[in-house]
Amino acid sequence: MARRQSGRRVWVLNDGEQAEAGAALRLHNDMHLAVARGELRAWYQPQLDAHSGALVGFEALMRWQHPTHGLVFPSVFIPLAEDNGQIVPMGAWMLERACADLLALQRACPPDAPPLRVAVNLSLRQFCDPQVYEHVAQALARSGLAPTQLELEITEGTAMVNQQHTLDLLGRFKQLGCMLALDDFGTGYSSLAYLKRFPLDVMKIDQSFVRHILSDNEDRAIVHAIITLAHHLGMKVIAEGVEQAAQQQLLASMGCELVQGYLHGRPMPLDEALAWLQAHQRPLVKRT
Ligand code: C2E
Ligand code: MG
Ligand code: MG
Ligand code: MG
Repeated sequence: MARRQSGRRVWVLNDGEQAEAGAALRLHNDMHLAVARGELRAWYQPQLDAHSGALVGFEALMRWQHPTHGLVFPSVFIPLAEDNGQIVPMGAWMLERACADLLALQRACPPDAPPLRVAVNLSLRQFCDPQVYEHVAQALARSGLAPTQLELEITEGTAMVNQQHTLDLLGRFKQLGCMLALDDFGTGYSSLAYLKRFPLDVMKIDQSFVRHILSDNEDRAIVHAIITLAHHLGMKVIAEGVEQAAQQQLLASMGCELVQGYLHGRPMPLDEALAWLQAHQRPLVKRT
């Protein structure tokens, strides 16, 4: 047991909590070195056409290969990086990496294959950082990737914090030629009045609504309403967290255009994503 004094409150931590707090503190302190030490990793999860099964692109998802803690997942380090501001350089690294890696993935496709897209998450702190536009523009310029092949994802929560800023910045990204997606839709509090003014291309239905879509009538009704809303606003819909073929069939029958989830592939390092791509493209051998 330990006692920690902060202000006038005294926190009493048990051993487990102490270890957890200690680990968080070490991660916090190590984080400013993560980019320089080359410890960040970009993993890629495929996104497919819900009807044809064709690959349309990948979402880039960050991992941190920590020298002593091993592979750390974003649910652990992104909130810390948001707090200490490191998400800004880490996010800039991710934009550069994702653009370069998408070119490698595109090169692995047949020459006549349609252009793939890579989706990169921007968190609130990044989205409000004065340098974020430069980071996006630089990643595109340095890699030579076509802006239409880069999709930027922000959550509903991020979009609604400062709606005028959102309108301005999304407008600039749109002028640059990027695709724009609203992540985790349904979990925040969107002002529909603003939603219709944001130049968004894609709405991502949060996986919490997809999980029980086969058994829960209410989740099905919510998903249906989200798809209808998105289409009326001129947006395409991607469902996150699709784990079963029956979920995909139902979503496709409801008009959802795209799917992403463990059914087709987990997030994977670039070399595995390249191997996944080869296997996905191999024509199915007909059995007699
Ligand atoms: P997100 O952007 O909503 O990403 C989708 C998350 O759902 C990913 O978790 C992915 O691995 C997981 N997922 C995908 N398909 C399935 C499925 O079929 N079943 C289940 N149970 N989960 C699935 P991940 O990679 O742990 O990332 C968590 C969150 O961390 C992301 O949620 C995003 O908000 C944030 N994040 C990840 N990478 C970055 C990054 O580079 N920058 C920023 N700012 N945030 C990031
Ligand atoms: Mg996302
Ligand atoms: Mg999401
Ligand atoms: Mg999320």
